[in-house]
Amino acid sequence: MESFDVVIVGAGAAGLFCAAQAGQRGLRVLLVDNGKKPGRKILMSGGGRCNFTNMYAEPAAYLSGNPHFCKSALARYTQWDFIDLVNRYGIAYHEKTLGQLFCDDSAQQIVDMLMRECELGNVQFRLRSELQSIERADSAFTLTFANGTLTVPQVVIASGGLSMPGLGASPFGYQVAQQFGLKVLPTRAALVPFTLHKPLLEQIQTLSGVSVPVVVTAKNGVSFKESLLFTHRGLSGPAILQLSSYWLPGEWVTINLLPQHDLSALLAEQRAAHPNQSLKNTLALWLPKRLVECLQTLGLVPELSLKQLQSPQIAALTENLHAWQVQPNGTEGYRTAEVTLGGVDTRELSSKTLEASNVPGLYFIGEVVDVTGWLGGYNFQWAWSSAWACAQAL
Ligand code: FAD
Repeated sequence: MESFDVVIVGAGAAGLFCAAQAGQRGLRVLLVDNGKKPGRKILMSGGGRCNFTNMYAEPAAYLSGNPHFCKSALARYTQWDFIDLVNRYGIAYHEKTLGQLFCDDSAQQIVDMLMRECELGNVQFRLRSELQSIERADSAFTLTFANGTLTVPQVVIASGGLSMPGLGASPFGYQVAQQFGLKVLPTRAALVPFTLHKPLLEQIQTLSGVSVPVVVTAKNGVSFKESLLFTHRGLSGPAILQLSSYWLPGEWVTINLLPQHDLSALLAEQRAAHPNQSLKNTLALWLPKRLVECLQTLGLVPELSLKQLQSPQIAALTENLHAWQVQPNGTEGYRTAEVTLGGVDTRELSSKTLEASNVPGLYFIGEVVDVTGWLGGYNFQWAWSSAWACAQAL
């Protein structure tokens, strides 16, 4: 029977890249996955075009119980290293916005590239193969699959988080960590749309599909300037997905619907020029008409002409539009979340090698670790960087 130097669990972004790197260093690598094809999330990512990294990737764009942990891996294998690899394969890409790099054609190109890299490293694949358990004896690990067992000196857990259970996501990595005495920080869905309480949801239902540039701010002061999308379930769009990583149940969020403007100054100008113009029509100069109508229904915009507006009303209106207070009901959860916050506590791992400090030979990489990036290619960059760092140590 074939023997291996390392088994990598999970053929997602982190597992594929780690397998390729370790294989190319001369190790005999087996990559196992419970799905029937590798890189399933990569294929779905970025609307099928994979936002494979971000030009501005840096530790500040990651959430973790220990914000310093990701620094080493991100510095040793950077976004520029991955971009070099993409360039070597002649994959065309473009910056969509804010440093986010997407394939021009298809995410399949990234999977094909990783598969070719695995081929160069003679990586063996075992797909449709769910790892059921891991036992450790005499500094080797015995892995149990439905169809038999395998003993190896090193195991890399790249089994991802809990988001998108339909794509094979499982708590397996967390269970292994706990089994070996590693702490797992509480997990929750992130980069996920907000749902709203019924009255508000019903009132804004007419806005489904409307998108506006906003600045959203969480209770802890963190804010994002991106677009917000009203949906039939609540609020989505990049601004909301980003904010969801910083939001806790029960908290209110602040939405500046006119971040580019100083509303009171604009109203003063308009009032001088067109005193009889309705406030509604005036606001429609800067906001979608449907949104203005809805804000009127919500009682946030009075039905007055500009000349009827008194100072307190202008102050209230400015507050309502520059700092609209919304209390989400919850999130859409793991079903639609792009990532999972929390996970294997970084204090249990080496930041240089991703090896469990107290379990030689056991490594955790990618999303299963308590390192979560912003929206925009940051999560794949963590997968590549942590995988590379680990592969050098195997
Ligand atoms: P995963 O990619 O989740 O891979 C883990 C693998 O392990 C899976 O294939 C799973 O089936 C397998 N597995 C689990 N348990 C077992 C077991 N017991 N035995 C065998 N196999 C097992 N990030 C970006 O940076 N840019 C994007 O454009 C982007 N778009 C996204 C779009 C969507 C819809 C989603 C859901 C996520 C997106 N992300 C994006 C996030 C990104 O996909 C993840 O952060 C990244 O895939 C994590 O990689 P991973 O290898 O750690 O885990």
